[in-house]
Amino acid sequence: MKKVIKRIISIFLHRIFRKNETKLHILNYLFWECTWRCNLNCLHCGSDCQASSTVPDMPFEDFLDAIQPLKRHYPKNSILVVITGGEPLLRQDLAECGKRLRDKGFRWSMVTNGYAYDEAMHAKLVSAGMGSITVSLDGLETNHNWLRNNPKSFDRAVKALELIISYPRLNYDVVTCVNQRNVLELSELKEFLISKKIKKWRIFTIAPIGRADESPEMMLTNEQTRQLMDFIADTRRHDPRIALTFSCESYVGDYEKKVRDSYFFCRAGINIGSVLIDGGISACPNIDRNFVQGNIHTDNLLDVWENRFEVMRNRQWCRTGICRNCKDFKHCNGGAMHLWNVEREGIKGCVKEKIHSISETQSERTVCLGPVHDYLEGL
Ligand code: SF4
Ligand code: SF4
Repeated sequence: MKKVIKRIISIFLHRIFRKNETKLHILNYLFWECTWRCNLNCLHCGSDCQASSTVPDMPFEDFLDAIQPLKRHYPKNSILVVITGGEPLLRQDLAECGKRLRDKGFRWSMVTNGYAYDEAMHAKLVSAGMGSITVSLDGLETNHNWLRNNPKSFDRAVKALELIISYPRLNYDVVTCVNQRNVLELSELKEFLISKKIKKWRIFTIAPIGRADESPEMMLTNEQTRQLMDFIADTRRHDPRIALTFSCESYVGDYEKKVRDSYFFCRAGINIGSVLIDGGISACPNIDRNFVQGNIHTDNLLDVWENRFEVMRNRQWCRTGICRNCKDFKHCNGGAMHLWNVEREGIKGCVKEKIHSISETQSERTVCLGPVHDYLEGL
């Protein structure tokens, strides 16, 4: 009983928190899609990037001009610019961009496949003030190289990680896209990461977007999805050697708080914005590009952030398709923005549905909110 009351209170507080965060919509993370070029050709790429993209990299000056107005509104160092691509390491001027961001009062980090991360690059980026870095590792050698479509990609990513952890002031995490192959080796992968002294690990499943949309064998079955949740929950509960978390990608029903530190909250357009390669202003870069809210070449980024994004800040329109009558809508709020398209045809997949189709024990999954239910409904 004590446990149930505790859970009711924490759900209640989370919903107030989510409502406030949405109202305030403070920009904390700004993705900069600086290039579409990539040195790999991953089977699951959400960006659908090409090895030699015909789309030119965005000149750094364009991005810098666009973010100037943010300085009037936000305290120094409060915004983290997350440099993404494509593969950011392909930009010759990456360290220079980072240094200038730092000089202008923005913290910065990057997301990389690690392939081009060597000693020289590490030294340059660290001295340019890089504060954190995310490296993808999608399984042990065979499975990582299969997904990344390159026989050396595993070795290169591991080498990058060894360099990164050798510098204790650098924040980092490893991200793994779980698919039908590597789901079978997660325990082994965990031991490998621990043997490499990796402390932070984040797991995604592969979303049916980009190239992955054409390869359904990469999506986990319902059974595997549930096994994945159990793996994460067990590791979090019993293995203090590594901090494992499930990504923000989906509401997970009963597993909420067991697989992450906090309840599901898609912060796209609420705390997360982006400047896309063509100057488009959006939220997470993996969102349908038809949701763009403006363009840095014609609009003021701060104005757009402050006055648009209604589509992401009020998700009532998500009550359609399988979400229409979903009992968990009030907790989930229509799921991940990256799984919607601008036609609003319904969400492209729901992890909670996958999990609960395996074991639909209603009493387990539904906390009776009793008299507070109506109040929560109104929030
Ligand atoms: S759009 Fe997707 S990646 Fe972005 S915050 Fe929402 S769930 Fe997370
Ligand atoms: S059906 Fe929609 S609202 Fe319900 S849990 Fe899934 S994504 Fe969320």
